Amino acid sequence: MPAPTLHVSQHPAVLHKLAILRDEKTEPKKFREVVRELSWLLGYEALADVGVKPIRIRTPLEETDASELGERIGFVPILRAGLGMVDAMLELLPTAQVWHLGLFRDERTLRPVEYYNKLPDSATVDLCLILDPMLATGGSASAAIEVLKKWGAVRIKLVNLIAAPEGVAAVSSAHPDVEIHTAALDRGLNDKGYIQPGLGDAGDRQFGTGNVG
Ligand code: URA
Repeated sequence: MPAPTLHVSQHPAVLHKLAILRDEKTEPKKFREVVRELSWLLGYEALADVGVKPIRIRTPLEETDASELGERIGFVPILRAGLGMVDAMLELLPTAQVWHLGLFRDERTLRPVEYYNKLPDSATVDLCLILDPMLATGGSASAAIEVLKKWGAVRIKLVNLIAAPEGVAAVSSAHPDVEIHTAALDRGLNDKGYIQPGLGDAGDRQFGTGNVG
């Protein structure tokens, strides 16, 4: 039974692009391109309920009612794989703030450790979109949500390209107020924490760092 906060896109363009992303033959250049396109489509869906406020503008013909964004939006990419999602989001909302968060998993404790965070003392946005291509165990996502809640963020959404049921369960039980937007809900995690069928390591595939050295 899917969690009520989970939105899995059914858009045919999303499904088509997802197949390209998963394909092991897709090279990093094309992979980055498709990460960007999928991020745009998922961002479009995730931002559908952003508040707007009425304004008056003048067209070349007359004055008319119009709308402008009524909420301050922050994009929070999780380093490093979330970086590939930022440009597409900024195309959607060029006035958004971008706050990077660096988290890695301590191999001894298996807990996420924060290594980069330049958030100011109190929240400067109304809505945060956390950007991370893969929602695997949910450890980093939950840690990022906790950081943002402590910061004072009121509304938080998670945007992933692929989610595992384990990650969705972890995030939605700890943070039922956080919506999750993803292009796919996959079968589960393998014993190394990779999503199956997944797409492999989203960072390595974007930045060409798999199987080197
Ligand atoms: N991170 C990835 O990049 N891929 C996975 O499958 C899980 C976590």
